[in-house]
Amino acid sequence: MTQHHDMAVVGEPVEATLDNTTSKTVTSASAALQPKKVFMRTYGCQMNVYDSDRMTDVLGPEGFTTTENMEDADLVILNTCHIREKAAEKVYSELGRIRKVKEERARQGKEMMIGVAGCVAQAEGEEISRRAPIVDLVIGPQSYHQLPKLLKTARDGTKVVETEFDIDAKFKHLSERAARPPLKRAPSAFLTVQEGCDKFCTFCVVPYTRGAEVSRSVEQIVTEAELMAAAGVREITLLGQNVNGWHGAGPDGNSWGLGRLLYRLSEIDGLDRLRYTTSHPRDMDDELIQAHRDLKTLMPYLHLPVQSGSDSILASMNRKHTRDEYFRLIDRIREAAPDIALSCDFIVGFPGETDQDFQDTMDLIRRVEFGSAFSFKYSQRPGTPGALMDNQVDEDIKSARLAELQELVAQQQTAFNASRINMTFGVLFERKGRMPGQIVGKSPWLQPVQVDASEDLIGTIQPVEILEIGRNSLFGQLKPGHHDVVGQ
Ligand code: SAM
Ligand code: SF4
Repeated sequence: MTQHHDMAVVGEPVEATLDNTTSKTVTSASAALQPKKVFMRTYGCQMNVYDSDRMTDVLGPEGFTTTENMEDADLVILNTCHIREKAAEKVYSELGRIRKVKEERARQGKEMMIGVAGCVAQAEGEEISRRAPIVDLVIGPQSYHQLPKLLKTARDGTKVVETEFDIDAKFKHLSERAARPPLKRAPSAFLTVQEGCDKFCTFCVVPYTRGAEVSRSVEQIVTEAELMAAAGVREITLLGQNVNGWHGAGPDGNSWGLGRLLYRLSEIDGLDRLRYTTSHPRDMDDELIQAHRDLKTLMPYLHLPVQSGSDSILASMNRKHTRDEYFRLIDRIREAAPDIALSCDFIVGFPGETDQDFQDTMDLIRRVEFGSAFSFKYSQRPGTPGALMDNQVDEDIKSARLAELQELVAQQQTAFNASRINMTFGVLFERKGRMPGQIVGKSPWLQPVQVDASEDLIGTIQPVEILEIGRNSLFGQLKPGHHDVVGQ
């Protein structure tokens, strides 16, 4: 997989390194119970990262703090991803390892509850408790707000499997939580605006694990964004499996799309940067494209997966657009925002993909020129139409195509990164670097940027001149007093 930065795409099954694995205290007046610790391991997409944070939030009033050490945990939650093969098997083997930790704690007379959340929980349901009896709680993505209640049931000795789809209740709960005084937050944060998907691409499990598309209301989103800004968040990435399918009734009584929402969010004081992911080409409307032209706060980066460059494969994938429509869309976007960095997802070896189909994908990549891309071998997902297609492609062919595609994308990524050398632009600093004295932030185009500077600058946007590039990161120096820069 070619990966250009430290953010994973929605659905991307890379184990994330999370803020929520660092120790933080979430206290509440109602924390009458003994202090307890939760260890949260998050797999997959940004939506899972966001959901894991929400789970730790609802556990705070129950007296939980987070821990990085599983051995110290009274509660372990695996927030899982099901987008590609072997996800469930990986969860079962991880549960095997956790069982040993649980047994060791039991020898010390300490309890350890175990929960499985996320899309594997949704897809496997009761099968998890059957195959892994150490699991006390199986909880699907729409039920996290019920975690305290379900945990209590599990502690009383009843195995809990909760995989109902009640997303309205979850969104309502998120809004109630947002109405509380904010805790101090990291400079860059996610905000879920939409969940689920109605597109039914024939390779994808999301419509089955996350359910139908549901949008949060304008009011809920704006309130949460304002509270985040008040808590020190400078950059918000709006999340959704099909984020540009978001729509809602605006305060003016009209139906708003994502573009209109971005104009509204850009009015919030202190919120300097907006992003959104992941978009479907069919839902890139004029207002959203215009927002890229008009809004200084909307960063010049767009993740717009095409999956394949072959019309017959696109049709068989049920992508609902042709390669030509994709090219025309890219032209319109680049006309509105010439400096935009484009990112993409590709699947190689979808059933029936011929050499020519694959070469059509390579040709599309050459024509568009991406700043980065994620690419995957097609994986048969049970329950999806693609899994039943009889013209599956050999693994060896998939591997060879993937390597060829990733080589091309790597060249384009390097060329894009190299084009930033000697440029000066705003970098939002987010954390300390690996080396002493180093801090790391993000460029407007989502590239990690490393600079030697004081950690006091974390949480601020500073002009940085880029001096050299590495495989995934840019290296630069501060340019104090430089005002006319992108992404300030
Ligand atoms: N909604 C986004 C879209 O339409 O492009 C993508 C969301 S999906 C959760 C993330 C990526 O995982 C997809 O874009 C696709 O490239 C990849 N993916 C999904 N199902 C897959 C499968 N069965 N095999 C290989 N890759 C898959
Ligand atoms: Fe999956 Fe297609 Fe929906 Fe994306 S648009 S989440 S790939 S079904």
